[in-house]
Amino acid sequence: PFDVLVIGGGPAGASAAIYAARKGIRTGIVAERFGGQVNDTLSIENFISVKYTEGPKLAASLEEHAKEYNIDIMKAQRAKRLEKKELIEVELENGAVLKSKTVIISTGARWRNLGVPGEVEYKNKGVAYCPHCDGPLFAGKSVAVVGGGNSGIEAAIDLAGLTEHVTVLEFAPELKADSVLQERLNSLPNTTVIKNAQVKEITGSNRVDGISYVERESGETKHVDLEGVFVQIGLVPNTDWLGDTLERTRMGEIVVDNHGATSIPGVFAAGDCTNSPYKQIIISMGSGATAALGAFDYLIRNQ
Ligand code: FAD
Repeated sequence: PFDVLVIGGGPAGASAAIYAARKGIRTGIVAERFGGQVNDTLSIENFISVKYTEGPKLAASLEEHAKEYNIDIMKAQRAKRLEKKELIEVELENGAVLKSKTVIISTGARWRNLGVPGEVEYKNKGVAYCPHCDGPLFAGKSVAVVGGGNSGIEAAIDLAGLTEHVTVLEFAPELKADSVLQERLNSLPNTTVIKNAQVKEITGSNRVDGISYVERESGETKHVDLEGVFVQIGLVPNTDWLGDTLERTRMGEIVVDNHGATSIPGVFAAGDCTNSPYKQIIISMGSGATAALGAFDYLIRNQ
């Protein structure tokens, strides 16, 4: 059996596997797609000490670094079931069952898409999902935020400080964000909130040049000229495969303590699939290291 089996090969999983392997213990990593979300990122400017890099380049470096160690890398494999018996068993979609003394889950998350024309076409060409990552690219421009929940309104407040103007579009008749956030947003001069608005299309030629929506009350279609659209309608953790084997939040995020431990002894989790706040590369790598050290600590206390 493995001492540490990591499920997921994004920044959190790669970091966890390297930290575990450096302890000289038997380490494996199962990854559907090595590099995870990083593969979908164009420019990365907030991975501290690296001024600028690109997603596929960072993803390749993650794999190269992992290959420096004695790590059993199983790519293009998906985990579908986890069960704690004497050891922890992880079943893959291909039917194989892997056994390990500890498991680190780092299956990440995905942004919920709007699913309107233009969204896929203009991704990284004006369509963005992460204000911490891409906000500065829109300095002095006009942008929209789609979604009036906490993350949408936080994004709008953040972007109002960087951009010329922010239009918030919310489908429901009311914003769902906490009232303190709504008050803060309302106090800013360069923001507009449009409720009851169903986004129909993100328009553009080479890059985004606007957004069209239907005013749900009147049924009229309206258009706003702008240069960026931040989609903030939710981040979905890739944790469905776990069912109720371990504690998850209402949103599906795995609940971890400050050692990365989950509700099952010996099972740890790290990165965007957990309930830790702020989903970023540097944060997921840090939590991967924490979970690996947590797992190592568990191993030396439980053999
Ligand atoms: P992920 O990167 O999501 O990796 C999850 C891993 O698990 C993948 O290998 C996946 O294939 C695998 N997996 C999933 N399910 C299974 C399964 N059942 N079995 C086996 N493997 C599975 N952050 C920044 O800090 N700076 C940026 O500039 C930035 N830009 C971004 C731009 C975009 C477009 C996106 C989408 C995200 C961006 N982020 C950025 C966020 C950052 O990419 C994430 O916070 C980070 O990748 C999370 O790492 P993770 O390892 O937790 O999860």
